[in-house]
Amino acid sequence: MAPLFSWGNYPRHPQTPHLVHWPEDVPRVMANISELGYHNALAFGCGRSYGDSCLAESDHVLAMKGMDRVVAAAWETGVILAQSGITLAELIRIALPRGWFLPVTPGTKFVTLGGAVANDVHGKNHHVMGTFGRHVKRLVMYRSDEGVVECSPSRRADLFAATIGGLGLTGIILVVELQLRRISSSEIEHRNIRFGGLDEFFEISQAYDASHEYTVAWIDCLASGKQAGRGHYIVGNHAKEGPLGLSPPGQLIMPIALPFSLVNGFSLRVFNTLYYHRQRKKEVACRVGYDPFFYPLDRLLRWNRMYGRRGFQQFQCVVPQRHGREVIRAIMQEIARSGTGSFLAVLKQCGELASPGLLSFPLHGVTLALDFPQRDQLNDRLFAKLDALVHEAGGRLYPAKDAHMSAIHFKNAYPEWNRVEALRDPQLMSRFWKRVTQ
Ligand SMILES: Cc1cc2nc3c(=O)[nH]c(=O)nc-3n(C[C@H](O)[C@H](O)[C@H](O)COP(=O)(O)OP(=O)(O)OC[C@H]3O[C@@H](n4cnc5c(N)ncnc54)[C@H](O)[C@@H]3O)c2cc1C
Repeated sequence: MAPLFSWGNYPRHPQTPHLVHWPEDVPRVMANISELGYHNALAFGCGRSYGDSCLAESDHVLAMKGMDRVVAAAWETGVILAQSGITLAELIRIALPRGWFLPVTPGTKFVTLGGAVANDVHGKNHHVMGTFGRHVKRLVMYRSDEGVVECSPSRRADLFAATIGGLGLTGIILVVELQLRRISSSEIEHRNIRFGGLDEFFEISQAYDASHEYTVAWIDCLASGKQAGRGHYIVGNHAKEGPLGLSPPGQLIMPIALPFSLVNGFSLRVFNTLYYHRQRKKEVACRVGYDPFFYPLDRLLRWNRMYGRRGFQQFQCVVPQRHGREVIRAIMQEIARSGTGSFLAVLKQCGELASPGLLSFPLHGVTLALDFPQRDQLNDRLFAKLDALVHEAGGRLYPAKDAHMSAIHFKNAYPEWNRVEALRDPQLMSRFWKRVTQ
């Protein structure tokens, strides 16, 4: 099997995969890695984490995607027990025609159940459903020092809290018991509202978030002056009635990794301007399938290749509510000044529901995510300024997207990190964890 990389292709450390198909394979594979002389390993799902949190310090990973079976499902209650390598795409394929959907989904369906738990992912409905981990009822894991263990909010609650959002460090997750959410239709009642600046974003959020389960905004990160912070506010609810049909696959693929990045100041400005003006009316309402609504980026497989061989980094921060407006404005100004950024900068209000994991990322506040082509001094110049703004405001960066956060910022922003370290499986270590804790 070819070496594996993280989604941003930065930092570029090829991972040697060791295939896992059954729970019984896990102890044998870990022993094999150890016999080869490597003292640690890490589980690897679909590699949709951008930076180095899915890279083993030893560069040897357990490739979990072969462990992809549904073990049991109670369709009356929507409780499903599945192996950790199953993808969210596959779970939707099985559950949706029966009237069930994921309680929380990230912006791609090509992630594994284990990966969704290990990063305690959040979605467009964070303000009403919280993070993915809130819907996990039980985990079965393998630890090199204990063998197979089970944990839940009521059984070994410390291990459960350390594993939800625990970056794959507390054991190899074998099986996850998840509560799905009921739906009556696979379609989404969707509204797209164009807004002219950040103040309007906050006004629309106030007006629409209470009545819509899914809300997110796209902003033009290069717009400045009067147009700064302009964008589209996208909201939706599951339709109350309609078909329960799967979306057709209809995907294109970015065929090769280019030697250079297609993302530059010129292409960004053209795309962002066209995207902003794509609808004439201020507000447009229509019904769409779940797939284009939740997963527009999944239409172009391997789109990360657009960034060329040097790869890219995503910067995702969350800033507490009380400082949200002015800090996001300051961050946007720095980014616009730098003349770089991404086609799709995403802004969202996170809700107040507490995350169950010790290292869960979301806070009650505003989260901003955008991609940057990798180039020299990105970390030292732009990111250093953005990090300082986030840190001073009591915010934090998302480890699943990170390849540059300093140890000091990490430890301050995630004060429970040493409780996770105390429960870390001694044979599991990522490049991220080594970088920020050791
Ligand atoms: C286009 C795109 C959109 C995204 N949108 C969002 C979003 O809206 N919200 C959000 O929160 N995230 C988002 N993400 C990030 C992504 O959802 C997370 O990084 C997710 O955890 C990736 O899952 P994966 O299966 O690819 O895991 P990987 O990236 O391979 O691994 C992630 C972590 O999970 C651990 N892991 C994987 N399997 C297991 C296992 N069986 N046992 C123990 N640990 C395991 C790994 O060790 C690693 O620490 C997005 C990513 C992309 C590419």
